[in-house]
Amino acid sequence: MQYRSTRGQAKNYSFEEAVMTGLGPDGGLFIPQEIPTLPSNWRQAWSQYSFQQLAVEILSLYIDDSEIPRADLTNLVDRSYATFRAEDVTPLFKVRDGLYVMELFHGPTFAFKDVALQFVGNLFEYFLERKNRNETSGKTHRLTVVGATSGDTGSAAIYGLRGKKNVSVFILHPDGRVSPIQEAQMTTVLDKNVHNLSVKGTFDDCQDIVKNLFGNKEFNTRHHLGAVNSINWARILAQTVYYFQAYFSLLRSLNIDPASAEADKINFDFSVPTGNFGDVLAGYYAYRMGLPTNKLLIATNENDILYRFFASQAYEKQTGEDGGVKSTLSPAMDILVSSNFERLLWYLARESESDEGKTESEELCDKAGQTVARWMQELKDQGVFRVADKAVLKAREIFDAARVTDAETSAGIRDFYQPKNANQTPYVLDPHTAVGVVAAEKLIERNNLKTYPAGPDILICLATAHPAKFSEAVENSLKNVAGFNFEKDVLPTEFIGLLEKERRVSHVERADPQLVIQVIEKELREEGISF
Ligand SMILES: *Cc1c(COP(=O)(O)O)cnc(C)c1O
Repeated sequence: MQYRSTRGQAKNYSFEEAVMTGLGPDGGLFIPQEIPTLPSNWRQAWSQYSFQQLAVEILSLYIDDSEIPRADLTNLVDRSYATFRAEDVTPLFKVRDGLYVMELFHGPTFAFKDVALQFVGNLFEYFLERKNRNETSGKTHRLTVVGATSGDTGSAAIYGLRGKKNVSVFILHPDGRVSPIQEAQMTTVLDKNVHNLSVKGTFDDCQDIVKNLFGNKEFNTRHHLGAVNSINWARILAQTVYYFQAYFSLLRSLNIDPASAEADKINFDFSVPTGNFGDVLAGYYAYRMGLPTNKLLIATNENDILYRFFASQAYEKQTGEDGGVKSTLSPAMDILVSSNFERLLWYLARESESDEGKTESEELCDKAGQTVARWMQELKDQGVFRVADKAVLKAREIFDAARVTDAETSAGIRDFYQPKNANQTPYVLDPHTAVGVVAAEKLIERNNLKTYPAGPDILICLATAHPAKFSEAVENSLKNVAGFNFEKDVLPTEFIGLLEKERRVSHVERADPQLVIQVIEKELREEGISF
């Protein structure tokens, strides 16, 4: 399998190149040159597979055996998910008849980004080790990962990369502006290759510094910068696995054979709390590969660019204070634009320009690249672009969108903790998952869905964070509910004492790229790295 850029100027990249460079040379994102289909007997053959076994089958459709031999891939997958606390890695939980949550938060940092980043860390290490084994000049290939975080990505990246050979990781966060738990999760990791930089400034300042460093050719060449943000293809790929796991676990729990007519009667809908569009995009790839999927529901908070796109065909940045980003109860979804949406746009551009059945030609692929490049330029210059009717119609075949306010999020947390009848199990939702669950209920109502077992619809909401991670929103929503006790009902033992643990963090007194460069180089030397 080879990879191309969504902006049309680069193709025939290997998986390794796509993963290690992150972003295409034309500024586009890497996508597979074609979407593989599932083996014809996949339902029977995979029905009893573990998460890890499914992962190997699915990943190997996108990674040639000549790039990563199957035995190595199996080993990478096994090591990546050995750090998860749940035996089936991403367990499914029924909250109401026909409504399930798939818990993606049993990894080291208690949020779904671990599912991808545990794998990405091992993948980086694997590729670097192999390069170094084959290097005859005596030089060592290394990677310096630099990233900015407002909270969640940083800790997942740190836990994915801690202790990895030939990788150093520097995570910049805005001083005093990440939640206490998130700050503690990042700064209590004491591995030598992990460096936290607390920068006086905002998250945007941190992000600008990171962009500046990536644009600094001399610095980049000296340190081989690597990125772990959600545009990395390996992250999307790793996330496709749990859609399959959800499908099989659900049918197993209902005692339905996946290859039976009974299974075919069920409509599978996925509701996905969405920010940068990585998680739900993985569902799109699963669907395009052949996973039975009725609708992928994009659940947004009040940062609703995607919701508005489906209503108006215009992809338009919000304007206002703080650069247009609203602070909500679900901060990991507070975005102005969704970086991974560009990947979907490429498919929409190609399909809307094709006559039925001729979507695969190289000419159409190149044209789609040009269209995406134009849209992205318009977004940059004018803050908006519009797509053709056909593109939105194509998207609506599989996607739907719902927008959930903070008030609805809080109400959802209360509602699911207080069951109204025997078909409901009390469940503490984190605010991001609450957005997904409330969106699912909106879809049920709007489309008049009949949920299983009374009807054919089953909705699976991806649970993206453990409720203890966003304790303030959860406690505020449930504080007046009799019998609720945060320590007893929510707090995992791993969080107890976390705030008091030893920390290591460097303070950067000004949001200045030069200062950050000084700190990075000083700490690399202390790590024993010469450059
Ligand atoms: C990152 C994140 C999301 C959003 O996922 P995207 O792939 O960016 O759409 C949702 N919830 C939580 C808790 C997250 O950390």
